[in-house]
Amino acid sequence: MSEVEAAPLPDRLARAITLAGPMPVSQFMAAANAHYYATRDPLGAAGDFVTAPEISQMVGELIGLWCADLWGRAGRPDAAWVELGPGRGTLAVDARRAMARAGFAPPIHLVETSPTLRQVQAERIPDATFHDGIDALPTDRPLLVVANEFFDALPIRQLVRRGDGWHERLVACQDTLFLPIAGRPVPDAVIPPSLAGAEIGAIIETSPAAVAVIRGLAARLAAQGGAVLAIDYGYDGPALGETLQAVRGHCFANPFEEPGSVDLSAHVDFTTLAAAAQAAGATAWGPIAQRDLLGGLGIDARTAALAGRHPDRAERIAADRRRLMDDMGTLFRALALTAPGWPAPAAFA
Ligand code: SAH
Repeated sequence: MSEVEAAPLPDRLARAITLAGPMPVSQFMAAANAHYYATRDPLGAAGDFVTAPEISQMVGELIGLWCADLWGRAGRPDAAWVELGPGRGTLAVDARRAMARAGFAPPIHLVETSPTLRQVQAERIPDATFHDGIDALPTDRPLLVVANEFFDALPIRQLVRRGDGWHERLVACQDTLFLPIAGRPVPDAVIPPSLAGAEIGAIIETSPAAVAVIRGLAARLAAQGGAVLAIDYGYDGPALGETLQAVRGHCFANPFEEPGSVDLSAHVDFTTLAAAAQAAGATAWGPIAQRDLLGGLGIDARTAALAGRHPDRAERIAADRRRLMDDMGTLFRALALTAPGWPAPAAFA
């Protein structure tokens, strides 16, 4: 490793900005998150945040049943199961167990860029095949793709309204302080007409990276068959507002401070992703609330069965269910995509 590569990420970003000028928010976010995920396991009580599959095994199990049900009604094709950004691999382990009980034992492909998290995932799913991106996924069979809190980690662009129109937002650096500034003007034509008259200071976010992944997956579904289930905190865009946020130790932090040491995420624009998927040849379903997804897949029956088998943990199981259904139930939503000719996905129709 060269001396420059060994320097802490904030120093490297500061040097890059000093040499080449302020960088787009998307570039800053991509560099910060690549470093963040590469250098730690951020999940769990001792980490920075907790996700639904880490709260309860029921999440992975119900998602596994969703996949197995769709696969069965599609005629039991020779399909591959894919997860994007599997974190600790918990969802994959729980989904695999549930799918196997339903007679579905597909090969598992994991799309993960973090070497640290890949190691955790490989220990729990030793036969998984790893990929850096969706382009390397198998091309010869239908794909059943799951992504929980993956799209919100992908870099966003921000546009900021000034007196003279809209500008790309850049990250500048003063001494060791990073701060957002207005950069190059963007043509009025790229601004959705409904947002064009926004007040000075207004922000529009877009995620070309998320759109590219959805478009790529939808094209695969159209060519190979299969389905996608993406769960995230999101909105019906395009819309005004800044959702870029930083989390550390379960508290919010300044997204422009200490890049690489905090988790950066942004809410997902479901409308734009669904439209991109449809344009690439897939059918989009929802988004529906997480509580409707898990409720429709039978979380209440599953809670009762689990509590019946583990009476000592019944209270805990009920509390986990409440957290998924009440606390997170409407904030988080699920978007499904299906290949042309594939049946309607459970809980969405
Ligand atoms: N799905 C897991 C983890 C969510 S955290 C859960 O719900 O618990 C985001 C995950 O996406 C991490 O595994 C992170 O390493 C991965 N990730 C982030 N950006 C990525 C990228 N560009 N390509 C592939 N994986 C990425």
